[in-house]
Amino acid sequence: MAVQQNRVTRSRRNMRRSHDALVAANPNECSSCGELRRPHHVCPSCGHYDGREVIAQSTEVDLEDDAA
Ligand SMILES: [Zn+2]
Repeated sequence: MAVQQNRVTRSRRNMRRSHDALVAANPNECSSCGELRRPHHVCPSCGHYDGREVIAQSTEVDLEDDAA
């Protein structure tokens, strides 16, 4: 088992951890539905990207209408 040669001081440990902070997400508004979405990602609510629909959204199916 590897054993560390020197004790890491509080100062060194904290200096190492100074880069560990998480950064907040930077969401953009979708140009077609206005919902917040991640930049360079397909909109999860309407399936649009770059002004066109790339993921077909399921529409509600009326069961009575289908039977006819
Ligand atoms: Zn959208």
